[in-house]
Amino acid sequence: MARRRESARGSMPLSELLERRESRAMASFGVRDLDTMMRFAPRRYTTPAPLRSLHEVHEGEEMSAIVSVLTLRERRMRSRQGTILEVDVSDAVEEITLTFFLAKQHLVDWHRKHLQVGAHIVVHGIVSRNKHTDQPQITHPAYEAYEDTPEGRLRAQRPLPVYPLRKNIAQRTMRSATEKGVEFADSLARPVPEEIVAARGLAPLPQAVTGVHLPTTVQDTREGMAHLVFEEAFVLQAIFAQRRALDARTPAPVLGAEGPLQGAFEQRLPFELTAGQREIGDGIIERVRREHPTSVLLQGDVGSGKTVIALRAMLRAVDSGHQAALLAPTEVLAEQHHRTVTGLLGDLARAGQLDGHADATRVRLLTGSQKTSERRATLLDVTSGEAGIVIGTHALLTESVEFASLGLVVVDEQHRFGVDHRRRLRTKGPAGTSPHVVVMTATPIPRTAALATVGDLDVLTLRESPGRRAGVTSFVVPETLRNWETRMWARAGEEIAASRQVFVVCARIDETDEAPPAPAVLDADGQVAETRLEEARGVTATAERLALRPELAGARIGVLHGRMAAEEKQRTMDSVLAGEIDLLVSTTVIEVGVDVPNASVMIVLDAERFGVSQLHQLRGRVGRGEHAGIAFLDTRLAPGSPAFTRLDGIAGAADGFALAELDLQVRGAGDLVGEEQSGLQRTLRYLDVIRDARVIEQAREDAFAVIAADPDLDGHPDLSGAIDNRLRDADPDVERS
Ligand code: ADP
Ligand code: MG
Repeated sequence: MARRRESARGSMPLSELLERRESRAMASFGVRDLDTMMRFAPRRYTTPAPLRSLHEVHEGEEMSAIVSVLTLRERRMRSRQGTILEVDVSDAVEEITLTFFLAKQHLVDWHRKHLQVGAHIVVHGIVSRNKHTDQPQITHPAYEAYEDTPEGRLRAQRPLPVYPLRKNIAQRTMRSATEKGVEFADSLARPVPEEIVAARGLAPLPQAVTGVHLPTTVQDTREGMAHLVFEEAFVLQAIFAQRRALDARTPAPVLGAEGPLQGAFEQRLPFELTAGQREIGDGIIERVRREHPTSVLLQGDVGSGKTVIALRAMLRAVDSGHQAALLAPTEVLAEQHHRTVTGLLGDLARAGQLDGHADATRVRLLTGSQKTSERRATLLDVTSGEAGIVIGTHALLTESVEFASLGLVVVDEQHRFGVDHRRRLRTKGPAGTSPHVVVMTATPIPRTAALATVGDLDVLTLRESPGRRAGVTSFVVPETLRNWETRMWARAGEEIAASRQVFVVCARIDETDEAPPAPAVLDADGQVAETRLEEARGVTATAERLALRPELAGARIGVLHGRMAAEEKQRTMDSVLAGEIDLLVSTTVIEVGVDVPNASVMIVLDAERFGVSQLHQLRGRVGRGEHAGIAFLDTRLAPGSPAFTRLDGIAGAADGFALAELDLQVRGAGDLVGEEQSGLQRTLRYLDVIRDARVIEQAREDAFAVIAADPDLDGHPDLSGAIDNRLRDADPDVERS
């Protein structure tokens, strides 16, 4: 066991194992040791065409054949620098010429070394006809040495791994590196215990990595990858299991009181909680009553009413003699939450004021752009405990903010927060305790995706939305079709005439600013599709152009973006809420959570530049009240392109759940919902959260059992080492807590 631990910690360095060229090639992918290299899987395999006799092959056909080398000829290339190497080969019946165009002498030497007269080789390639001699040839064939034994024959037919390449790295360098690695497969660290490997019917690790890098059959590659997929899921789940085990040993403030604030609040709510809100609220309350910190992911579509659920739990914290913090990703949203919460609480939020309720607390707002005096007053209330509820942005996370007794942290719109943000909050509990954490997101992810990426959180899902919401219908508007665009602005004008409001969102502020890159889209073959983008429009110029549009004549147009002063932003949002602005042109500052019930039209210009969850968030800004919303995803892309098709899919997806599935399909595994997600989520390598749903469940069961029996992994050094590596790769900030 002790020796294993060594091998897990300090896996064999490739520089000692491989030729310089090979270890350098691997290093260019950050692969420096044997364990990592053997888990660096090929992107795909090429299966050689069936072995043929040369007399059977036809022009244009892809073929493989076993041949021997007859003669070699060299000529200078006429048009450019370099050498043409021609190699006549024969399978004893027919002849064919292998032709190589080689720019550098060392390449000529390399081929000459491997293609000596009489050598037996297997060639793979496509047959063509030499224009000058009219003889059959294969240009730039792949080939390898052939050994005339039963194994040799099998090997000649084996699938060839195709690794990702970087500049100046040859496929054969990658192959020879991993082939050498396979010889040491027995010495690899084995994070998945042997019993589990056997019980799950997986190939043992040495056999698995051999199957991945040096397979004999396609079946070998599948069995090999199955092990690596399981291993990845298993290590992740072990991380989550350890975090939960740690939580189970950490004390938390017990939020047990059924107090006056909560009661008074529920009585004065202007609406009935939906059954879902009640059920999930109860679920959270049941968890925060425990003696150990709970971590909940509350997911519910845009407008499903997550805020009141959170508020109920926050008031419970205050009733229990502790504080609650609500963290928002933007100042606009923090200010809005502050307004909503103080509005809902009324005199319950005015402790110490003449008209305050007897049981009242204080609700404080803390943002980065507050005046020093205001900030100081807030901090005083936070530290003394006068403020039961503190709402803020990232400013809340700074070291200088000390809570008297923080019992609960609610993080709104989780995809904007990194793992380290969450962790920092965890340290803000009263002496030696960790507060409970509730993370809210409107970009729900399917269950197994959640298990694979945020498996240390309890996921609670709000499925229905309160009835008052009219909902939103989305359309893609291709500007290449002029009358669609005209119709879109006419529609906006009609809504304004009916006293409703319109949002127009642009990808940048000024047209001289750099626009964000468009998200990658995969085409039908799973390759990243090339998309030629038009210059993105900016907020300032768009506002000027719209002022001239006849459809919008007389509309009061406002602008909002991140370069405006905080007060000016606030003034603008107030004007929008007061109905003094008909059409607001903005950046994505309004993306998350902004609640303007009277807004009915959302127009996103250059929509192809926005991520799926952003677009979903944006369209969620309208149709929030009694008026049905319309979202126009405006683009200058031509219909039919993959990027256009993606927009169409987004427009057609009914809710966040359908979208999350779509997002996973469009972007492939390994890149989950959040554009800005960090940490473990970003780095899924082989695990596909849809395809591997069952594997994830199994790995979870096994990993939790291992951790339950051996929480510190004293008896599992290889797993422990794999966890360390994983956390280091995933996020340099992540600690094991
Ligand atoms: P989200 O889940 O997107 O954060 P919010 O919490 O902002 O949604 O709620 C959206 C709107 O619905 C708010 O105006 C809120 O006051 C309202 N709302 C919440 N719950 C209910 C309910 N049970 N009945 C009616 N309206 C509700
Ligand atoms: Mg919200």
